[in-house]
Amino acid sequence: MSVKKIKNYINGQWVESSSSRVLDVENPGTGEILAQVPLSTRQEVHKAVKAAKDAFSQWKEVTPTERVGYLFKLKFLLEKNKEELARIITQDHGKVIDDARGEMKRAIENVEMAIGTPSLMQGKILQNVSKGIDEYFIRVPLGVFAAIAPFNFPAMIPFWFLPYAVATGNTYILKPSEQVPLTMKRVFELIDEVGFPPGVLNLVNGDKVAVDALIENEDIVGISSITSTPVAEYIYHKAAEHNKRVQCGGGAKNSLVVMPDADLEKTVPNIIDSVYGNTGQRCLAGANVIAVGEVYAELKKRLVESAKKIKVGYGLDKSITMGPVISQKAKEKILSYIDKGLEQGAKLILDRRSIRVKEYPQGHYLGPCIFDEVKQEMVIACDEIFGPVMTIIKAKDLDEAIEIINRGPHGNAAMIYTTNGKSAREFSLRVDCGNIGIQIGLPAPVAYFPFVGMKKSFFGDLHGQGQDAVDFFTHKKVIISRWW
Ligand code: NAD
Repeated sequence: MSVKKIKNYINGQWVESSSSRVLDVENPGTGEILAQVPLSTRQEVHKAVKAAKDAFSQWKEVTPTERVGYLFKLKFLLEKNKEELARIITQDHGKVIDDARGEMKRAIENVEMAIGTPSLMQGKILQNVSKGIDEYFIRVPLGVFAAIAPFNFPAMIPFWFLPYAVATGNTYILKPSEQVPLTMKRVFELIDEVGFPPGVLNLVNGDKVAVDALIENEDIVGISSITSTPVAEYIYHKAAEHNKRVQCGGGAKNSLVVMPDADLEKTVPNIIDSVYGNTGQRCLAGANVIAVGEVYAELKKRLVESAKKIKVGYGLDKSITMGPVISQKAKEKILSYIDKGLEQGAKLILDRRSIRVKEYPQGHYLGPCIFDEVKQEMVIACDEIFGPVMTIIKAKDLDEAIEIINRGPHGNAAMIYTTNGKSAREFSLRVDCGNIGIQIGLPAPVAYFPFVGMKKSFFGDLHGQGQDAVDFFTHKKVIISRWW
């Protein structure tokens, strides 16, 4: 049976890529080849940019309320098709269906937030800065923006940017992850159904070649990217070199601190969900569990007991709590980290590496693993593993726990479990991380707040979502006026 090659969506048309480079799109849960994705050429990227640039001259003149009218229609279609989209996410990515449904909710929330753009985009005026002179600023769109997305949230992450970009009057190009192109293909079918003017929203599939072509094209004014840290640094520097606005989310290694006074009954399931949800492939996932003082022994026992109950399998099957990892390559990388942990002397107290899901022998399954006796300098405690691996580190007190976190290169998220308000407050003020969870294992800001990684987890200043997104996609033009 021949598999279908996915098309690009450029200037309001679905167009076949002429690239000779294609990749198979695999369902990571079953190993089935679902489609082929083209790795578009530079010329195809430039065509999309030209279409977006041509569309910009008209789109920026459309009134803000009319522009968000299109987003109202998009929200309606996303809601209507959200169950189908969630199933596509599970097939594309592997996450369990409930997580995919949650992801759709977060994507739609961003469309709702962007629908408020007419008020978020308002400027400000100061009358009589000097006698008879008024000074004010208005926000204007800038032109063509592009986004580069990762594999782990095929629907949600593009929506941190896309709705705000078009609501503020810019035109847009999305390059989804080549590992999960099917979700955005379906979203763009809905975008086509909405009837945005041709060229306002474009979809170009591809890899580094497409990314470089976007960055080097002088008609692109800004780039948003969410990638691993080395790629984020590369895009950030290269885009700045090409005089673009740029915001780049990178990788993470997040810690969950458990204080001796924590309520373990509630803490343990929360930690299990943080570490193993989405099979550990979340940039907010907890990875290092820092056990403070005497909580260590009991916490460790409960974490192992709880992790053993995780049901690994295909995300569309009932009662499954953890799906596969994205690919064989990712599985091998995670396994090599586990080997490194063992080499460096950490103890693997829960080892579910060899788990098999018998109905799906081709799926990329790995069970939950827990390392104990981990030292902060070990590779498994520093590097982002991006898989179902927990590391337990001991700390004597809160100061030491904070020190361990702040010594790390990343700053995406940090979480604490305590019943003491003072400890929680101190922690939230002293850790150098952007998203803080107090008894919340996954501190994912809703669309009305920015998503605020720091250090090697974010490069740039304005973040995705919320007012930050409106600021990123607009320029404040200051007008000083006097009427004789
Ligand atoms: P990745 O870096 O492999 O790829 C992400 C995107 O970058 C893809 O679209 C890919 O085509 C492109 N890309 C890959 N290599 C490139 C290169 N050399 N030059 C230019 N472009 C390149 O990341 P991934 O495995 O798809 O996603 C997982 C990573 O994303 C993790 O590190 C995770 O922490 C991070 N992430 C960060 C956030 C955040 O908000 N900070 C959110 C989600 C995921």
